[in-house]
Amino acid sequence: MNDSVPDTKSSSPSETNGVDVIRDSISQHLKYSQAKSPRTATIMDYYNSIALTVRDRLVEKWIETQNRYFTKDPKRIYYLSMEYLVGRALSNYLVNLDFKKEVCRAIEKLGLELEEIEQSDIEAGLGNGGLGRLAACYMDSLATLGIPAGGYGMRYEYGIFYQKIIDGFQVETADNWLRKGYPWELPRPDYLYPIRFYGHVQHTSNKEGRGICHWVDSHDDVMAMAYDIPIPGYHNQTVNNLRLWSARSTREFDLGSFNEGDYVQAVTHKHESETLSKVLYPNDSNMQGKELRLKQEYFFVSASLQDILRRYKRNHSTFEQFPQKVAIQLNDTHPALAIPELIRLLMDREHRPWDEAWEITIKTFAYTNHTVLPEALEKWSVDLLQRVLPRHLEIIYHINQDFLNRVQVSHPGNNAMLEKVSIVEEKPVKSIRMSNLAIVGSHSVNGVAALHSDILKSRVFPEFNKLFPGRFINVTNGITQRLWLKSCNPALADLLNDTIGDKWVTDLSQMKKLRNFAEDENFQKRWRDVKMLNKIRLAKYIREDKALRMEINPNHLLDIQVKRIHEYKRQLLCLLHVIVLYNRFKENPNCDHVPRTVLFAGKAAPGYHMAKLIIKLITSVAKRVNQDGQTADKLRIVFIPNYSVNKAEGIIPGADLSEQISTAGMEASGTGNMKLALNGALTIGTLDGANVEIKNEVGEDNIFIFGLTAEQVDELKTRGYNPQGYYEQNGELKRAVGMIRDGYFSPDHPHLFQPLIDSLLVQGDRFMVLADFASYIKTQKEVEALFLQPNEWTRKSILNAAGMGLFSSDRAIRQYCEKIWNVHPLPK
Ligand SMILES: *Cc1c(COP(=O)(O)O)cnc(C)c1O
Repeated sequence: MNDSVPDTKSSSPSETNGVDVIRDSISQHLKYSQAKSPRTATIMDYYNSIALTVRDRLVEKWIETQNRYFTKDPKRIYYLSMEYLVGRALSNYLVNLDFKKEVCRAIEKLGLELEEIEQSDIEAGLGNGGLGRLAACYMDSLATLGIPAGGYGMRYEYGIFYQKIIDGFQVETADNWLRKGYPWELPRPDYLYPIRFYGHVQHTSNKEGRGICHWVDSHDDVMAMAYDIPIPGYHNQTVNNLRLWSARSTREFDLGSFNEGDYVQAVTHKHESETLSKVLYPNDSNMQGKELRLKQEYFFVSASLQDILRRYKRNHSTFEQFPQKVAIQLNDTHPALAIPELIRLLMDREHRPWDEAWEITIKTFAYTNHTVLPEALEKWSVDLLQRVLPRHLEIIYHINQDFLNRVQVSHPGNNAMLEKVSIVEEKPVKSIRMSNLAIVGSHSVNGVAALHSDILKSRVFPEFNKLFPGRFINVTNGITQRLWLKSCNPALADLLNDTIGDKWVTDLSQMKKLRNFAEDENFQKRWRDVKMLNKIRLAKYIREDKALRMEINPNHLLDIQVKRIHEYKRQLLCLLHVIVLYNRFKENPNCDHVPRTVLFAGKAAPGYHMAKLIIKLITSVAKRVNQDGQTADKLRIVFIPNYSVNKAEGIIPGADLSEQISTAGMEASGTGNMKLALNGALTIGTLDGANVEIKNEVGEDNIFIFGLTAEQVDELKTRGYNPQGYYEQNGELKRAVGMIRDGYFSPDHPHLFQPLIDSLLVQGDRFMVLADFASYIKTQKEVEALFLQPNEWTRKSILNAAGMGLFSSDRAIRQYCEKIWNVHPLPK
């Protein structure tokens, strides 16, 4: 808390990154940016001053990078995503800029501590879960690899809701993350684009007789204003840009009200247009079909494309080179309206003919599919599109007509195929299938794990795969080890640096060198010590957090399931196992049971009643079990509220066991599985998503695989799945289900969980919890047996981390570069 640490090396005042220079810069910002003196300054004032000091260093490289891109005019990659789950920024910036030590000392010289400042760091939760976090990891890798890339997204005023647990239930509160300002963003009021809605289309022709379209009588138009967030690469000269759009009202008045003289009404109406970027839709793996969401999607893609075209036109006078200079990646179908929007801009604004516009479009776009769940596939009713985006509907019809004509030529008389591939769905409600639009309008479609990409080709889009051979490819997801190891697990990072050097930070394949140490008892001990330290750190958090105040024992097997709450992810299966353990512990109190703490965290979509009921069940079982003196020292259940990137960083390094237990065929990839294994957790999982590849990399002896395969799930469904049969046959299952059903965990409300029971026993158990129960319980027994052999457990834990080389987002981005974008890093 004082300046007792003399700085010898880097305090030379001539260096911009010297400790004294940094301290002075913080003091300057405190005075001139915050208008505070040390006497009146709050922690937030210091946080802002430190952030601005760090940002100053970023800005230089940022300007330099953007100038270099302008001068050299390389092909640029634009990543379009409605979500970015970036988490806290300060520590990430300090790691990537190699600036942590200096800033830490400078802060100490001001009588503060970095940890205290980091508590004030604002978490940007502009995403729901895996898809948004993936976009953030990819931004980090693109900059680290020096790829001329930019992200586009939405600057929601309210990010993913804040989850409170009240009386065991999830209660949502608004995430007003901008209320104290956000020092990392730069408003760009000069980048402002008009976005139009509603109205209709008029067709005329020009002098040469070519048809032209006018989108007329639009109303409720808004402006999109840019906010930029710098994305620095790790220890390099690249700072890319993440541009987020915010809705602003136009300068025009609502003429109706204004002419009636109602000035106040007119201004109020202007204000309403700004609700467009107000809030992130909190649905994960579910599509709602709300008009406001459609408007958000269009607002986002139109602003992004207008910006991309403006930038292209600074260097080019024709569109001939557009696909050689621009690649656009669609993160799921949320931005798929970019396809008709690019055609519209090229035709109606740039006066290019259809054929040219179409050719440019298909060469420019590539689409990443993230789900095969039918309820998650986006569809928009034709009625709604006709009203909100009449010109785009016309263009979509044109795309579809041309496409279906080609299909009819290549597959004459195949009406079944036509029906399947059509962008338009006729029944039950005439709708536009956004996945079909994205597939037809892109030159490349990728799944996000090997299994998922195979399922896309064989089960979800087999007709498209036949029509477009080679268009469907796989790029398995990845995570950035800068955040998910170096930053969140410094103790493990130090041990790695000591053992295999520090190249793993930019080359995760180096992790395989750990295999040489897996049997080394000395190294095993150090590895175990690191894990224990992280478990103690997590226990401290759980003890001190106001919402928890619980004691957990770091010697327990720490069993972790953290992710969005969804029936397909099967938190219910994990919970049934907990109840089985509870019954076993009570039945045989003197047996040598493996003591276990089971930790859950995750948000449920606010309208998803089943998922919310699962949270209530978790907290109810926790309450009953944790207060049972007979089992208290052997079994604990914790639900950590408000799962977020920051919470994940705190939880994951402490995990012994990683629960990745989705119904096979339903989790596209998962990335939580990768984060946990990288931090030395052993996985218990189904052969689903990237678990399949994790198994291949770590070896089948080092992972606990159970349950039906995706193929067997299909087979069983075709044959006729009868969950009742499984229920009747298994005593432990029957008993656990019975306890939930009869109110053992909800004595004041015995029928509370009936809908969950009905979903299993009456509605057919869509996610096959009961079919996988026995296999899961048996495999958990194997987990216990291994945990009783600490050296064996540790050996496997080391081999898990050693096998994670493939799952770096750096590898994923390299594959996107080679297989899809045809770009190369731009050396400085
Ligand atoms: C990684 C991550 C996810 C995705 O987890 P899965 O287990 O892959 O579903 C969701 N939320 C947050 C905050 C994450 O960091």
